[in-house]
Parts: sequence; structure tokens; C-alpha cells
Amino acid sequence: MNNPFQNALSQLERATKVKPFSKEFLSRLAQPNREFKISIPVTMDDGSLKIFEGYRVQYNNARGPYKGGIRYHQDTDINEVKALAFWMALKCAVANIPMGGGKGGITVDPKKLSKTELERLSRGWIKLMAPVIGPKVDVPAPDVNTTGEIMSWMVDEYAKITGDKTNAVITGKPIEVGGSEGRGPATGLGGFYVFDVLRKKMAMPESCTIVIQGFGNVGGNAAEILSKNGHKVIAISDSKGAILKEDGIDIKLLNDYKKENGQISGFPGSKIITNEELLTLPCDVLIPAALENQITEANAKDIKAKLVLELANGPTTPEADDILFSRNIPVVPDILANAGGVTVSTFEWEQNLKNEHWSEADVFEKLKKIMEEQTEIIWGKASELKTDIRRSAFIVALERIEEATK
Ligand code: NAD
Repeated sequence: MNNPFQNALSQLERATKVKPFSKEFLSRLAQPNREFKISIPVTMDDGSLKIFEGYRVQYNNARGPYKGGIRYHQDTDINEVKALAFWMALKCAVANIPMGGGKGGITVDPKKLSKTELERLSRGWIKLMAPVIGPKVDVPAPDVNTTGEIMSWMVDEYAKITGDKTNAVITGKPIEVGGSEGRGPATGLGGFYVFDVLRKKMAMPESCTIVIQGFGNVGGNAAEILSKNGHKVIAISDSKGAILKEDGIDIKLLNDYKKENGQISGFPGSKIITNEELLTLPCDVLIPAALENQITEANAKDIKAKLVLELANGPTTPEADDILFSRNIPVVPDILANAGGVTVSTFEWEQNLKNEHWSEADVFEKLKKIMEEQTEIIWGKASELKTDIRRSAFIVALERIEEATK
């Protein structure tokens, strides 16, 4: 398995070969500002005590408070969190929002915990991190396996410890505790706005066939939004399996099916396929929306999509990037494609600090403007420098971070 932080640094090196930056600036960016590793004691339901390992990486805050989600996963480790924090710094710069980059996590399979254990674990993470986060310092949010409910436990714990009742320390909260309208679908919707600009530039059809890996917050919302906008989702996977339905999947029915059965495999009218088959299906757009290192040197030569839209973070390794580039398959990089989530998270933070509540229509309009404008800028930079969209997005982000650093 590739080390995601090495992948991130390799992407940095590749981009800075196209446009050089100062050695001092790059050596600063090659390491995070601060890393925290914590041991969280949790009393389990049977009375025993278990210690979980947790992390927060504060990568760069030249442009604003550290910002980034908290991931609960059995494979989460410090290298993954460092990579994700690095990408957050670049992503916030790509979206041109006043935030730096951070990320957190806990090594845990949350499906193995009861709800009360999960709550104690989440409050435990905040207890140990409270001294180093805050609305003007570091603002966490949800990521893989962390939900609005978990965010509401965390914000409550933070308020108990510090007395801060703005709720601005955490985003991705339910509306009732200061969440923003539109935060749920924001990442998928932002990805759609980016895709729609690029689809027209690349003269792709108005109705594309779509394959999505991952049916969680991001993949599920993307599937729904793309279907509503005339595209045909033909295959989807979750951690338990993948399905193919060539005449198109009805996403609402699939959501109902998943709620009832806890999985998508067995959805009526669909064929069960493997995750590997899913990634290499012929289609217009392949959307990785699960985890890192999915498109690698091993399968990149078999990808048959015409475009890859990275809604997950770090799904394509640098070696796979090269193979796809040589095969003329453009990759819309994560730091642009999935920046809609952190953009609406920033709107949430701003609303909390100003004690405002914006309508969903307002949120979507502001999100659309940002995603379309930044996509145009990054596309223009790619044409100017005759490079791919990932390198171009990196360069735009690095220019902005360097300027703020100066
Ligand atoms: P989630 O926990 O809601 O969903 C993850 C999905 O991936 C689930 O459907 C799960 O079953 C599936 N999955 C896990 N392992 C898989 C595998 N091996 N094969 C196929 N499917 C698998 O998480 P999410 O919030 O949707 O995040 C997904 C990705 O998007 C992550 O890379 C995350 O960092 C990134 N992201 C999320 C947001 C956000 O707003 N939530 C924003 C930007 C980027």
C-alpha cells in the first residue's frame, strides 16, 4: 500500500517541476506545523477500559485557521492524517477560502462500537484536543465514518470545557446546533459544478454514463445530483460490494434499499460485480468517492473511463496519474473536485461567528460561484502552463499560500 503522505509529497514535487517555488517555502511545506498524537481512554459498555489512538495534524495556517475533518477508520494512521491535512491546506487555497489545512482521526472501526461507546470516544478526542483547537485556531469537521451527530457531541463537549457557545469550533453539525443549510450535499454538489464546467470545455455529452466507488455522504449525494441533472449512474459500490445496472440505477430506490438491507448488493435488477471490475468499466466518468490508493499502477492501464473525477481524497497514486495522463484520460484532482465540502463548512463557521443563518438557496449560489470561478482559473492555468489539472491546481494553491506566507 502506498504511503499517502509520500504520494502527497510526490505530487508537490511534480507540480513544482512545472513552476518552481522558493526552496525555503517548499521545505516548510514538506512538513506540518504541528502533529498531535493522543491516547483516548474509553470505558466500554462491559465496564472494561480501552485505549484508542487519535491524531490531529495542523499542517499550515498561513491563510487562516487550520481546517479539516476527523476520520474514524481501522487503517487510519499518522501518515494518512498528514497527507489529508496537506491536501486540506491546498484545497482551501484552491477554493480561495480563508482557511489553512488540518486533519484528524482515530484508529477505530466505529461499526464495532455501540452508540454510547462511540459518544464517549468522540467526547474523549475533544477533551484531549480542546487546548489546541478553537474557532480561530483549528476547526474540525466530519470525514469518513463521522457524522453530524458525532459533530454535535464534539461541539457540546467543547462548549462544556471552554464555555464557548458560538459552536464555530466544529462544522458539519446538524442544523439545530448551528449547522449550515446545504452542508450535507455540498461536496457532491461542488463536484458537480466543477464537472459541469469541465464537461463543456471537453465537449463531453450532456448525458454521461457515470461509475461511482463509494455510496456514503459524498458518493451518495453525487449519484443523486448527477442523476437529477440528466446523467446515468450505471455502477456503484460500497465497502460490502459493487453493483452494475447498465440501464441506469434509480438512486432514490437504491437509498431506500440500502436503508432496509444495510448494503447495496442485491439491489433488484442489478448485477453484482467486484470492486476491481467497477473501476475498469467502460463509462464517461469514473468517480472514486471512498478512500485513498484506489487507482494505482496496477489498474490504471485498464481504466476505460474518459474522465476521472476525484471526489475522495488521494484516490489516484502519482504513478497511476502518469499512466492516465499518457492515455489521455484527464483526472480532476481532489483538491478541486471535492472542495465544495470545506467551502460550505467555511460558510457554516462564518454564520456561527456572525450569528446568522443563510438559506439553502444562498448557500448553493455562493458555492456555485466559487466552484465555477476557481475551475475556470485552474483550467486557464493548465492551458497556460501546458500541464494537467492536478499540477495546475497545485500551482494555483501554492501561489496563494506563498503569497500569504510572505
Ligand atoms: P462516508 O463514510 O460517508 O462514505 C464512505 C463510503 O465508501 C461508504 O459508502 C463505504 O461503504 C465506502 N467504502 C469504504 N471502503 C470501500 C471500498 N474499499 N470499496 C468501495 N467502497 C468503499 O465518507 P465520505 O464523507 O463520503 O467520504 C468519502 C471520501 O470523500 C473520503 O476520501 C473523504 O476524505 C472524501 N471527502 C469527504 C468530504 C465530506 O464532506 N464528507 C469532503 C471532501 C472529501
